[in-house]
Amino acid sequence: MEEDIFECKQCGYCCQGETTVSLTDDDLERMVAHIGIPKEEVIEKYLRITGNVIQMKIVDGHCIFYDQGCTIHPGKPWRCSQWPLHPSILSDHSNFLAISASCPGIKAELGYEKFSEILSEFLKAKNNNR
Ligand code: SF4
Ligand code: SF4
Repeated sequence: MEEDIFECKQCGYCCQGETTVSLTDDDLERMVAHIGIPKEEVIEKYLRITGNVIQMKIVDGHCIFYDQGCTIHPGKPWRCSQWPLHPSILSDHSNFLAISASCPGIKAELGYEKFSEILSEFLKAKNNNR
């Protein structure tokens, strides 16, 4: 079902920029467990903390974990996992336009209505499998 509306082109756009998604406490724990080194070292090597906001470091204009794809898939933040099939697409056409403009993997040619119909089914199935 996912493949009906999205096929990742491995362009890396979603991992580029001067900031990254922010991490929750659960994200941090999962990342530490996945990388397998002490939390303090993970923070020191890979993260940047500004006030209460924890983000991943940026190196050469992309997330430190990006190397022709995400190198920490099972340990990546949940906000990364949501991309690009974000539930906010269902509630607002402008989110569909913004996300499809940022992600060439989105099959925008389906049109908003058809896309949302399939996305809605996909998200329902995903939530049921949790
Ligand atoms: S922007 Fe979209 S197509 Fe490009 S790597 Fe990210 S998810 Fe894949
Ligand atoms: S953690 Fe992975 S998916 Fe998320 S921004 Fe970094 S490289 Fe991209």
